[in-house]
Parts: sequence; C-alpha cells; structure tokens
Amino acid sequence: MTLRSCAAGSEMLLAIWREFENEKLAHAYLFTGEKGVGKRTFARTLAKAILCQGEGERPCGGCRSCKRFEGGTHGNVYFPAPQPKKTTIGVDDLRSILDELSRAALDGGKRVIVINNAEKMTPASQNCLLKTLEEAPEGIYFLLVTDVERAILPTIRSRCRLVRITPWNEGRIYKALTDKGIKPERAKELTALCEGSIGRALQMQDDETYWTDRELVQRSFLIVKAMTDVPVAAQLLKDKKDDAERLLEILEQEMRLLASDIKQSGVSTRSFFPEHWQRATVQSLCRIQDAILKCKQYKFSNVGWMANAENLMMTIAEEARRWRQ
Ligand SMILES: [Zn+2]
Repeated sequence: MTLRSCAAGSEMLLAIWREFENEKLAHAYLFTGEKGVGKRTFARTLAKAILCQGEGERPCGGCRSCKRFEGGTHGNVYFPAPQPKKTTIGVDDLRSILDELSRAALDGGKRVIVINNAEKMTPASQNCLLKTLEEAPEGIYFLLVTDVERAILPTIRSRCRLVRITPWNEGRIYKALTDKGIKPERAKELTALCEGSIGRALQMQDDETYWTDRELVQRSFLIVKAMTDVPVAAQLLKDKKDDAERLLEILEQEMRLLASDIKQSGVSTRSFFPEHWQRATVQSLCRIQDAILKCKQYKFSNVGWMANAENLMMTIAEEARRWRQ
C-alpha cells in the first residue's frame, strides 16, 4: 500500500502525503483518534515511505529498504514498546534508542521512531523525549500514535504536528470492505457494526466466533415476541454460560444500533432484526438495555445464567407486548 492510497478519503492525511511528496514533512507527528481508525497503519506506512529508496509512488514495497522494513530487520526504524511484563515505556527503554539516534544522525541517513501507544510513556520518558524533540537532528522523524491524547504532556503535544484522525464515514468503510473482496451483504453489516472504525470492521470480519454468536443471539433473544416464546428461546442458550458475556455484548450493541436508527429516521432497515422489532420504541430499547446491563453484572453459574437469560427474555417479551398495543 502506498502512502497516497493509505491516505485516500481523508483530506487531513492527504495533506501529510503532499508534505511528504514535497519533502516538507514536520519532524514530529502525533496521531490521535479512536481505536481502529487507522492511526497505526498510517504511521507505519509513513515510516516505510520515509525510508523507501524506490522510484515513483512510495513506499514501493520492492526496494531493499521496504523489504527489510517488512521483515522487521530495518536498522533505521525504531518501535519503542514496554519491556515484557511491563505496562509502560520506561525512560531507559527510550534513552538507549535516543542515544543511538543522535549518534546515527552523524552519518546522514534518515531514521524514524514510531511510538505506538505513546500514552504508555511515563512522564519521565516523555520528558526525555522532549529534549530530543527540542533539538531534533536533521533527518530524524518521530511518529507518535495514541488513543489517549490527554495522556501526552502538553509540552510534547506542542512540539508535534497534531493529527486527529476522525472515524470514517459509512460510504468509505463500505467501499474499503468491498474493495477487499468482502461480499456486499456482509460489508453492509460490518459497516453498520463497526462504528466508524475500519480496523474493527476487519477484525470482526475475521472473527468466526463472533458471527456464530451473533447468529445465536438472533435465533434466541430476538425471536421473543411473547412470554410463551421464552422457554424455547432460552433452551438454545442452555450450554452457553461460558459465552454469556460475548452474547450479551452483541445483544447490547444491536439494541444500541437499533435505537440510534429509530432516533434518526423513525425506522430501522437492519435485516438483523425479525419483523416485530420494526415497531420498537427508543424508550423500550433503553429498558431492554438496562436489563442487559443488570444481567451482565452477575457472575454466572449454569443455573444462574439460564435464570438471568430467561429474565432478560421476559423483559423483551413485555416490551414487545407494548409495541403491539
Ligand atoms: Zn521501497
């Protein structure tokens, strides 16, 4: 993937691509935004492009530099991360890299330091980085990536070009998914489910367990129209205690999506729901969400899980009765 195609669809990222093409890159960038919006992918592609020695669109993917980058053996790119069993990037982890960088700068080659999860830098590490940012040697680029912008010291933020990556709109996600060969029907589902995160969409696509669980939610909780449906529906969940958390998570997400559809346009066209859900109201869905939350608070034994699942279904049946009136 070239830097331009990685930036496609985002004016902000295309501006960085232009800076790159015109050799006007800033020496430090801070990429922020929600999980899965493509921050890491972009930072990684930018790092690869900076180091690429190929002709034409970069990264070319074929030159020696690109191959070493892909193979994880490129000597001019650094990815500081917490040591095994540690949760923070300590000052020593960073200092050794920074020392090496300042020595390496003398020989003129470009170097890139990519700090994914930059919020994991301790304040001491951040201060250590700050010194280098203030007197950054020529040809050295810092790409910081974080989901938690406020965890980055203001002094660091002010020395980086801040790039807030916004969630993708639905059209762009749908197109990216179908471009990857995902069938339109599935791509439509994923687009609705991923909440603007292409990363999450792709993760979901690969997660077979998710689709099996989702189908079970559809066949159990969602078929309930009346109290008389509860025993049959609950029976399907009999041996599913260990999956309880995931199933409830899916149900909750679907309730949220349905409620947001109804709020926005009065109806939902989500094919996931059996027909009687078309008459659901936002208030009703809120009450069901409350019941799901309550159900999630239990640590389940086998018996407890079934009793709780049935309770939840009875709440759904009760709400469904209101829609019929
Ligand atoms: Zn290359």
